[in-house]
Amino acid sequence: MKKSVIAALALAASVVCQAATPWQKITHPVAGTPQSIGAFSNGCIIGAHELPLQSDTYQVMRTDQRRYFGHPDLVLFIQRLGNQVHNLGLGTLLIGDMGMPAGGRFNGGHASHQSGLDVDIFLQLPKTRWTAAQLLKPQALDLVARDGKRVVPSLWKPEITSLIKLAAKDNDVTRIFVNPAIKQQLCLDAGTDRDWLRKVRPWFQHRAHMHVRLRCPADSLECEDQPLPPPGDGCGAELQSWFEPPKPSTTPEKKTPPPLPASCQALLDEHVL
Ligand SMILES: [Zn+2]
Repeated sequence: MKKSVIAALALAASVVCQAATPWQKITHPVAGTPQSIGAFSNGCIIGAHELPLQSDTYQVMRTDQRRYFGHPDLVLFIQRLGNQVHNLGLGTLLIGDMGMPAGGRFNGGHASHQSGLDVDIFLQLPKTRWTAAQLLKPQALDLVARDGKRVVPSLWKPEITSLIKLAAKDNDVTRIFVNPAIKQQLCLDAGTDRDWLRKVRPWFQHRAHMHVRLRCPADSLECEDQPLPPPGDGCGAELQSWFEPPKPSTTPEKKTPPPLPASCQALLDEHVL
């Protein structure tokens, strides 16, 4: 897909998802065996677990939004990554959006995070734990220079590479989205151990956080995985294309959201008037 087309689609998707959505009315997980249903950008979840809000290894931001639900695999991944980061003395993991109690579309921000398998994690690892006030109004650290072509050298730290690499090496992780300038820095930092870079994908924004996506759990029969990223470390021509000036864009297509998977529609019909 051409980058200008992707840009138009991303814009359309972000416009579409500003409105309130029925999923916000579901305030608790739907009881049942955990099942991620549908696609990352058009799905829902039954039997979501809550990420424990108290932990020695991670802190959860913006808990007032109640977006700290996900498939148990996602909760386990966050705990696993938090432990690794903690044991290496890298700092405290800062957790942003996971999903809503039954998944589904947020009212703004991003179109994915719908099936309980996505999480946003800040690209900073404070050595001192944040206060409750800091967690409620988190200060994002923009790691990318204004021209978008490189990271800010004074802000880039080796532990950010370690953090992204630890996440990418996790067996349950299939994709990590970061800004192209951040991917480029990882390409420079990686040395000879480069297999993990395949999972790290350039994407718009993502200047202060990474978006981590897990594979569909084996027993989530209605969960739709994406194809694997192309082979290789993704540091070549594809990455460079992100730094070229955008082609003159054609008129963006009007994009209506696709119909919900039947199981998600049934869940809404049952739980939302
Ligand atoms: Zn995200």
